[in-house]
Amino acid sequence: MAHKFPEDLLALVAHLKRLPGVGTRTAERFAFEFLTWDRSVLKTLGETLIDLHGKVPPCPVCGCLADRGICRFCSHRETTSLCILASARDAYAVEETGNYRGLYHVIEHLLSPLDGRHTNTLRLDRIEKRIEENNIREVIIAFDSTLEGDTTALYLKNHLARANLSISRLAFGLPVGSSLEYIDGGTLAHAFSGRQIY
Ligand SMILES: [Zn+2]
Repeated sequence: MAHKFPEDLLALVAHLKRLPGVGTRTAERFAFEFLTWDRSVLKTLGETLIDLHGKVPPCPVCGCLADRGICRFCSHRETTSLCILASARDAYAVEETGNYRGLYHVIEHLLSPLDGRHTNTLRLDRIEKRIEENNIREVIIAFDSTLEGDTTALYLKNHLARANLSISRLAFGLPVGSSLEYIDGGTLAHAFSGRQIY
């Protein structure tokens, strides 16, 4: 039983349980696995985690991941399309479809008023600025097909709408409740080419 573990091990289990898909039993297995690792390996792991934000910073322009400075999407693409994502990881899923060569913009959170994530966390001003500066003609909203995804997409559509700007959303073929990261490339590619004007 968990309550019989030493306190420091319980603390480690509590940290591991914060990982997606990791419950108490799995967290306990991981914690005991760590106990078998050499101190040097654990030290390297610890250092990797400590330096993570510094070594893989978000691109200051779009929020995708960058080695340093501006990311490769921002620095290599001339385009009038902007794809709005809820996670930097989703950019890689979209890239894999091979259907999109435009710019990205990662918002920090999907709207979820119940969790205290309100519209002011969206930084709409930054999105507006990018649309202006890049002369964007097409905005593609690529959020998960969930209540939060739908709420946020609708909010963006209502606030970004203007003449000469097409706003579409990936929804076609995406099952309700589905998350971009778990969708296979074929389905996502289909959703991309079948994106619907809002
Ligand atoms: Zn960027």
